[in-house]
Amino acid sequence: MPSRPQSESSSSGMPRGGALFSPEGREALLAIAEARLSETAGVWRMRLLARDLIDALGPAVESALHDAGIDARLRRVVSVRITRGVREYGSCNIPRGEDGTCRLAFSGLLFFPGNAAALLDVIAHELLHACLPPREGHGGLFHRGMEALNGALGLRVQVYSEKTAIRQSEALYRYKVVCAACGNAFYYLRAGAVVRHPSRYRCAKCGKGAFEVYRLEPVTSDKENME
Ligand SMILES: [Zn+2]
Ligand SMILES: [Zn+2]
Repeated sequence: MPSRPQSESSSSGMPRGGALFSPEGREALLAIAEARLSETAGVWRMRLLARDLIDALGPAVESALHDAGIDARLRRVVSVRITRGVREYGSCNIPRGEDGTCRLAFSGLLFFPGNAAALLDVIAHELLHACLPPREGHGGLFHRGMEALNGALGLRVQVYSEKTAIRQSEALYRYKVVCAACGNAFYYLRAGAVVRHPSRYRCAKCGKGAFEVYRLEPVTSDKENME
């Protein structure tokens, strides 16, 4: 007999706990998250939204894992940080001493209108870490947990989220490689092989070897967004 968390809505008005096991509850959660994503951006609002989603989703994640026979206890989330992460969308830090707490961080690039579902998946991914042993990483138990969450809560948690989960912006990258023949463009953070030797490569889209490399202006560090 599955045990469902009692509380059906949190102080933010978001459905939570047992309510998230139904498609209606999940749709309601997504609708609220979506509405809040379309409000003015800003680190403070992003963090508040992340916290509210953690509150809403946490008990359901814990209970879905229990239902799947996984011994899990959600650590208390003592801090939520918003980062400028481009490659790391989220992280869960569990202190060495294991005092039942954890610190979560999410890339600010996850917070844009239309991205509520992907944001929720990344948050669920980190909540899963927050439930499992510190050294589990993306091991077998993590995979079982992912399946349990995706099945019971209709999520699409992955080990590595797709690139589309974050806002792609030229401003984040150092190099732009453009195919002069068809306009196909790629962005890179580091001067890898394509950036250093563009003539050795052919465009996958049009087959021509006509790559041109542009160095993009470095992004000035915005302290206010750094957290
Ligand atoms: Zn992970
Ligand atoms: Zn091309």
